[in-house]
Amino acid sequence: MNDKTGKLLGDNIAGVNRILPHKHKYAWDLFITSCANNWMPTEISMQTDIQQWKNDEITEDEKLLVKRCLGFFAGSESLVGNNLLLSAFRFVTDAECRQYILRQAFEESLHNLTIVYICDSLDLDIEEVFTAYETIPSIKAKDDFLLEITTDITRDSLDAKSKEGKQEILRNLLTYYIVCEGTFFFSGFAMLLALGRQNKLQGVSDQIKYTLRDESSHIAFGTYLINTIIEQNPEIWTKRIQEEFIDHMKKAVDLEIAYAHDVLPTGILGLNAEMFIDYMHYIGNRRLEAIGLDYRF
Ligand code: MN
Ligand code: FE
Repeated sequence: MNDKTGKLLGDNIAGVNRILPHKHKYAWDLFITSCANNWMPTEISMQTDIQQWKNDEITEDEKLLVKRCLGFFAGSESLVGNNLLLSAFRFVTDAECRQYILRQAFEESLHNLTIVYICDSLDLDIEEVFTAYETIPSIKAKDDFLLEITTDITRDSLDAKSKEGKQEILRNLLTYYIVCEGTFFFSGFAMLLALGRQNKLQGVSDQIKYTLRDESSHIAFGTYLINTIIEQNPEIWTKRIQEEFIDHMKKAVDLEIAYAHDVLPTGILGLNAEMFIDYMHYIGNRRLEAIGLDYRF
């Protein structure tokens, strides 16, 4: 069994359809694990959540937290899924990695379903949740940042064989896997899970637990993809690109801390916005380390 011998970016057209023999068994195993972890948001009962929400067992601050967390997820789950299939999928020409990407895209659609299911169950104002990326400055700042640092890698003029073209593809993967999924999702997860620990909105919390499990494997796959592309194309991982990415991570961590202030304007659930400084610094360092860079926080 050959492992990691398949070129990840390239013109290996025949290879696209050849799953065996294994060339990236890591991706294949992750695909199998993800399938075994299958879940449906709608299998989780929201009965108690609905009662708690209606009977005012959930405070206004806690309701704000839920709506703002969903507000960011509503835009970004969809953004990640679309980028994956419309952009990343085109350039990753290994069959096993593509298999994982297809599975991941399905999981992103389940995460969209989670948001819709929670909105329906709790009868949330759909306008408020689905336009948060326009109306809440710290959410808008995160979304704007993602779009600002990526380029359209599907444009005709991108030469995917050139060093610059590969660098743009790498930047896209770093932005979506490490900045968005690996950093921008994590304060929201921590806050929503804190609700569940206090026996509040257990249905929401359980769905977030499953979503977090999915996202952890997306990050593991993304990290593998990025590290393998760098290994196979060492010339694209220049000092300049590394410094650029470190800058993006620093900005992302700051944006995430600002977002925590908007979601948690008052201290609730044993959490306050200040705690997210240490937490996000820890996450930021772990993400840098995973792709071979030194701690910066
Ligand atoms: Mn997701
Ligand atoms: Fe994801």
